[in-house]
Amino acid sequence: MPPRRERKTWTLPAAPGPSLRQRVEQKEREAGLRCDDPSCGVGPSDEDPVPEMLAELMKQVSIHPLLHPGKGSVCEHTFHPSCLVSAERVAGWGGEDKAEPHVEVSCPVCRDLGCVTRDEWEEGVSTL
Ligand SMILES: [Zn+2]
Ligand SMILES: [Zn+2]
Repeated sequence: MPPRRERKTWTLPAAPGPSLRQRVEQKEREAGLRCDDPSCGVGPSDEDPVPEMLAELMKQVSIHPLLHPGKGSVCEHTFHPSCLVSAERVAGWGGEDKAEPHVEVSCPVCRDLGCVTRDEWEEGVSTL
């Protein structure tokens, strides 16, 4: 379990802020609620804050280099497993051959080619 993070209080900038939405998304990203997938569906809606107990759902994975599967990452982007699976399926990447230990994927943001482990992929599938 990661250490519990002290929830900082922060106040909304005076409206109309230039980037209130961006600030909120940045805060959510820092808290792990939102990943780099542009259509991330795990983060809370504005009216519906996510309770701390859902933190386990907020685990994110990075895309590993094909030559070193399971180690490192090809880019700085990280994704909720379920977001990654959705994005890859939309983009035509499969991972349906369950005999393969790694699933070839393309980063939904920068299109770098890499892979995730079968475990990471199946975790995403199971939480879709
Ligand atoms: Zn996400
Ligand atoms: Zn990327």
